[in-house]
Amino acid sequence: LLMPILLACNSRVSISELGLDAGIESKIDSIMAQMTIEEKIGQMSQFALDLIGKGGNAYYSDEPFEIDPAMLDTVIGKYKVGSILNTSNNRARTTEVWENSIRLIQERALQETGIPVIYGIDAIHGVTYTAGATFFPQEIGMAATFNREIVERGAQITAYETRASNIPWNFSPTMDVGRDARWSRQWESYGEDTYLNAQMGTATVRGYQGSDRNSVRNSNIAACLKHYLGYGVPVSGKDRTPAVISESELREKFYEPFRAAIVDGGALSIMVNSGIINGVSTHADYRLLTEWIKEDLGFDGVIVTDWADVQNLYTRDNISKDYKGAVKAAINAGIDMVMEPYNLAFCPALKELVEDGEVSTERIDDAVRRVLRLKYRLGLFEKPYWPRAEFPDFGSNEHEAVAKSAAAESITLLKNENTVLPLPSNARILVTGPNANSMRTLNGGWSYSWQGEKTEDFAQQYNTIYEALQNKFGTANVKYEPGVTYKMDGQYFEENTPEIQKAVTAASGVDYIILCVGENSYCETPGNLDELTLSENQTNLALALQKTGKPVILVLNEGRPRLIREIEPGSAAVVQTYLPGNFGGDALSDILSGDINPSGKLPYTYPKYEQGLITYDHKPSQNIAGKMEGAYDYGAQTSVQYPFGFGLSYTTFTYSNMSVDKTDFTSDDIVKVSVDVTNSGEVEGKESVLLFSSDLVASLSPDVRRLRGFEKISLKPGETKTVTFDLKGEDLAYVNELGKWTIEEGEFMLQLGDQTTNINCTKTKVWETPNK
Ligand code: BGC
Repeated sequence: LLMPILLACNSRVSISELGLDAGIESKIDSIMAQMTIEEKIGQMSQFALDLIGKGGNAYYSDEPFEIDPAMLDTVIGKYKVGSILNTSNNRARTTEVWENSIRLIQERALQETGIPVIYGIDAIHGVTYTAGATFFPQEIGMAATFNREIVERGAQITAYETRASNIPWNFSPTMDVGRDARWSRQWESYGEDTYLNAQMGTATVRGYQGSDRNSVRNSNIAACLKHYLGYGVPVSGKDRTPAVISESELREKFYEPFRAAIVDGGALSIMVNSGIINGVSTHADYRLLTEWIKEDLGFDGVIVTDWADVQNLYTRDNISKDYKGAVKAAINAGIDMVMEPYNLAFCPALKELVEDGEVSTERIDDAVRRVLRLKYRLGLFEKPYWPRAEFPDFGSNEHEAVAKSAAAESITLLKNENTVLPLPSNARILVTGPNANSMRTLNGGWSYSWQGEKTEDFAQQYNTIYEALQNKFGTANVKYEPGVTYKMDGQYFEENTPEIQKAVTAASGVDYIILCVGENSYCETPGNLDELTLSENQTNLALALQKTGKPVILVLNEGRPRLIREIEPGSAAVVQTYLPGNFGGDALSDILSGDINPSGKLPYTYPKYEQGLITYDHKPSQNIAGKMEGAYDYGAQTSVQYPFGFGLSYTTFTYSNMSVDKTDFTSDDIVKVSVDVTNSGEVEGKESVLLFSSDLVASLSPDVRRLRGFEKISLKPGETKTVTFDLKGEDLAYVNELGKWTIEEGEFMLQLGDQTTNINCTKTKVWETPNK
């Protein structure tokens, strides 16, 4: 049976085609003509919510949140602050509390300046600070689905529920390419690949913003791409430490997803990298902020700082002798809005700089115009707050069903020796390990609270892995004994004294051991590690359980790949769940029981050694293994645990008849690449078909391969579908050492599954980067 499928081409809309809305621009003209310099500077500043709560600093308070009118007098009355952000440790609130707080803020702002406040939040896997909201897998899991539609639908739901919380602006998606497994925020990214980040990020922006970036209203919200640029690869592996990135990589690997999400997705705002690239603090980098984004791409949105990063230029990076110098550096580099959560000194400092001629009024007007434009685009002037009753589907069953399918499509089967999985329905199971009975570990950071530590209080109605397995296999057949537990007192990686023997004893009388290991929730600097290896207690637990001779199913529940080379060989199966969210337990039990066939694929290379960190798109010299005969072996082989794009199924897929519609092409051509994929096994399944290209010879040593396309299809047993990719000639270009896109004459190899075809470029071309 041969069934052709038609692949819808992503509709690409560029900013220049869309243009500005003349009506909005003229309204901005008339408002700006009336504004004082204090009011303008206020629009450029963003302040923390918890400081305008009763009691002054509600950061650690467990009291129900309430706005303090006296604080509003200072923040909005005196300083005319135009934006408020949700601060990280506040507990989840109901939509009712949100509605009341935001109404009070807006009423005060309108009375003071006539300009509504724009409220921003980190709703990075659902509206993570609203009780009852739908939580999706974290970005790393969404990437593992290799399914753009589910990513876009998830973003639509998050947008709807963010609006239901009276919030129109989301600090998401994270577009940092997570190319270093040590980095504590790798799970906030779409993994190590540039193309995957660009595609998933653009799908997320579409889901959040809808199709008209000049009118992002009702159930749409503004996206904020973060953290521009190169935040994901600190040399030390630790968060917010300096990165060294070549000009070629900066453009090709890191800039490209931002470019795509701005030009193709129409993203309305960008947040800046807290760190330093090649010696320059990004918040003071005119080239990266103004030239690459505003000039080259014609970006007309807002560039906002990350947390206190203007202050950091002075107090941490030491690039100015005082705070004022830091403000000058950042604003002149192109920052439009300053996230100074606890620092109102920004407003007088900037005013003085303007008075002294150190920051031009043109720069101020440009920034203010961008902020006001965003507020108009979001409809805030017409409707600064709204009744939550307009969002009856908040947390609906339909929303939850999408989150559950996303979790199920993300979970990645990495090993299945002797087809131990799926388990028989009468299996007697011991479920063990520190991640077996915790909602906190399933969700990860940014869940109800910044580090996710409040999750257990708020997620009681959802199932942990243990609870979901009980529901699936029957209470009598599922035993629980953790063996290792995390300390829950804010020590993110500390564990209690292990009780390994208890777990070993509990294994007698069961048929299978489901061992759930990984990490507790964390994010940012508290998540920094000194070692990537799975903790010693968890490793010992695994080794002890493997000695029982019972099949051990190793379930990984982690934000980044912790090294498992010691315990992988003795595990009968390995399943990666990433951070699957509130439905992760249910989705996993559906997969372990065979009710759902796994279809996730790794969005990163799973390393085997700490000294063996590598990405799949490395240079040939980084891993000489498998290179052509005659290549000198310098001993730089890097064994990995599992490669990028790897993931097993309960069925098998056979690829055949790979073909291209032309074997010679130029950079302006489109090459159609097709392959037939057959479900050659016994059960229905989904397969993500990944298209890789290799430039066989280039002036700059080419990456061994790069992902250039993916499509997820569903196949019944025996069914065949033809998958066709439109590969643009220019998609085969690379960025040269001067930062220019380049395509050279010569041979390219294309690969789909185990099929390969070579095509030939007939014309060399070099072009300026943004016009890609
Ligand atoms: C993080 C950002 C986040 C911001 C606001 C910062 O610490 O780096 O990702 O958007 O806080 O919460």
